[in-house]
Amino acid sequence: MAEVLVLIDHANGEVKKPAAEMLTIARRLGEPSAVFIGPGAETAKDLLARYGADKIYAVSDPAALEHLVAPQAEVLAQLVAEKQPAAVLIPSNAAGKEIGARLAVKTESGLLTDVVDVQAGPVTTQSVFAGSYSVQAKVTKGTPIICVKPNSAAPEQANGAGAFEELSVSFTDGAKAAKITASEPKKASGRPELTEAAIVVSGGRGTGGDFSPVEAFADTLGAAVGASRAAVDAGWYPHSSQVGQTGKQVSPQLYVAAGISGAIQHRAGMQTSKTIVAINKDEEAPIFELVDFGVVGDLFTVLPQATDAVKGK
Ligand code: FAD
Repeated sequence: MAEVLVLIDHANGEVKKPAAEMLTIARRLGEPSAVFIGPGAETAKDLLARYGADKIYAVSDPAALEHLVAPQAEVLAQLVAEKQPAAVLIPSNAAGKEIGARLAVKTESGLLTDVVDVQAGPVTTQSVFAGSYSVQAKVTKGTPIICVKPNSAAPEQANGAGAFEELSVSFTDGAKAAKITASEPKKASGRPELTEAAIVVSGGRGTGGDFSPVEAFADTLGAAVGASRAAVDAGWYPHSSQVGQTGKQVSPQLYVAAGISGAIQHRAGMQTSKTIVAINKDEEAPIFELVDFGVVGDLFTVLPQATDAVKGK
């Protein structure tokens, strides 16, 4: 069976949840090989093996992460040339899509982004036009390069061999053409990252600026907190939490919209969520057209009741 390369998403060595999902998907296509770029591969290797990685290719050279994403594309291009993998899976976030695009050019291969499912072939399901269409597609030239959205599979454990190999890569001048000069870690909220969370609870203009019931409900569920643009524009919540066309695209197992009308631009960021629940006091609100469960009511009454109900379980 051919190898399937999986670019591991991590933050300072801490493996992010989509990595386990992508290793699970890789097992449908061949033998998963994790590609870990940056410090921390040694620590992560048991976890990666537990989710099925037969091989772990590590690049600990700090230059790999100092020059934005171009060096990562070079690492993958080198591995594609050497290993002739059946596919390369990359996280479908902003950095991952750029890595995928650079890799596709370098290897003269087809690229599929915003993929929400991958089956043998590999045949992918993509969510396109801001989630309005679902498209089945496959790469017909070169090595399939597939950018997979978070929450596209439930992570399943499997005992991979976890054979560890440190790669030595010398980056081209082109890959080092831009350099990160400073970076500041985000203040930790203690909540999961919005685009990776299995549950997202979002608040809109209906909160009137008081996000406390939204946050309390989110914390009871271990969820991330999102916001509509109206709430962000009003300065009630940071832009990094905006869900929608000009914000982040989320695809959690459960999306709860509280006090959000359901404008097309908001839907563009959340309509691929597996289960959608809305709380809105206007029964005519457009959000009710796409929900699985709707509650017509005041969020300041409904959310505390829901929070107590979950806590009491
Ligand atoms: P509103 O539309 O004002 O809806 C508030 C809702 O809250 C109403 O349905 C009301 O019935 C309900 N409500 C009020 N009080 C309560 C209560 N106490 N309990 C329960 N319900 C209550 N929007 C985004 O969200 N994300 C984007 O990325 C985005 N990008 C955009 C890009 C462009 C180019 C443009 C033009 C617009 C964009 N928008 C985006 C804005 C979008 O069109 C809407 O204006 C916005 O989504 C509305 O936010 P909202 O639903 O919170 O507010």
